[in-house]
Amino acid sequence: MEKVYELIIIGAGPAGITASIYAKRAMLDFLFIEKWLPGGEIANTYEVENYPGINNVSGAELADKMVDHAKELGVNISLESVEKVDFTNDIKTITTSNNTYYTKTVIISTGASARKLGLSNEEDLKGRGISYCAVCDGALFRNKTVAVVGGGDVAVEDAVYLSRIAKKVYLIHRRDELRAVKSNQEKLFKQDNIEMIWDSVVTKFNGENYLESIDVLNKKTKEERNVSVDGVFVAVGMTPNISFLKDSVKLNESGWIITDEFLETSAPGVFAAGDVRDKLLRQIVTSVSDGAIAVTVAQKYL
Ligand SMILES: Cc1cc2nc3c(=O)[nH]c(=O)nc-3n(C[C@H](O)[C@H](O)[C@H](O)COP(=O)(O)OP(=O)(O)OC[C@H]3O[C@@H](n4cnc5c(N)ncnc54)[C@H](O)[C@@H]3O)c2cc1C
Repeated sequence: MEKVYELIIIGAGPAGITASIYAKRAMLDFLFIEKWLPGGEIANTYEVENYPGINNVSGAELADKMVDHAKELGVNISLESVEKVDFTNDIKTITTSNNTYYTKTVIISTGASARKLGLSNEEDLKGRGISYCAVCDGALFRNKTVAVVGGGDVAVEDAVYLSRIAKKVYLIHRRDELRAVKSNQEKLFKQDNIEMIWDSVVTKFNGENYLESIDVLNKKTKEERNVSVDGVFVAVGMTPNISFLKDSVKLNESGWIITDEFLETSAPGVFAAGDVRDKLLRQIVTSVSDGAIAVTVAQKYL
């Protein structure tokens, strides 16, 4: 007979790590699966200033602390990618790159990934001048000219971070004001090597083997200009990591998993926690909260 776990947690970001800590302390028989590096998106964050009790910590450091905390309690993380699920029966099936597992409950905490601009040669020039992570790739652009695309907190933080490395940073935003919180905007406007390009969108990436320039359209004046850059950092929002789910749970029109206030999805015994679900605020503090709630409700279900 195949082993049946009480719980399988998919994704080891802040939501999944918290779920694993609560599951361990509740002495559940569970499996914790991560496809890449435990820690999730915060490992790509330069500085975290809004997580209570831990100030001015780098994202990587906070991620390490969370992972270490779970490991110290005896949590094991199985490194494999979930590729397929079947939630139609009481005993659910999780298929990974290496194995098939069976479980009574599931917590989906697979987070979200950076959204692409969707321009024609974006995929070809990815890693050849186009990046979605300033903290990961910023160092490659020392004393060079880069552009950041976006107007939210991530875009503004990326621009400030890059302004300390690059010679010049353009911040290209499609509106005439930023969505980022005021404290981030203050930091941005203090940097004299950041130039704003307002009301504008990138329409084309130019370059054969490596990015050389971008075409930028001002949506108000309809004026198009070519801007020479060595790198572009795209920070235009996130899209949920749900490719393995197919039609197994209900999603909203943008693809985020719909849950109720107990984090239950449309499939009984399947819960969603953190950035992957339809929610108001995608942050570490709300992900951590989701992880704790999901395990508590899963325990009740069991
Ligand atoms: C650049 C940047 C800066 C940020 N700064 C802040 C900040 O200062 N403060 C703040 O509170 N929040 C910040 N955030 C948001 C914060 O990082 C997220 O809200 C938080 O990481 C979400 O946690 P999560 O556990 O839901 O998902 P994630 O952190 O995205 O973790 C999901 C995990 O699931 C794994 N996974 C995905 N698919 C699979 C699969 N098929 N099989 C197995 N594993 C899988 C991923 O590899 C990943 O490790 C920032 C985000 C970004 C991108």
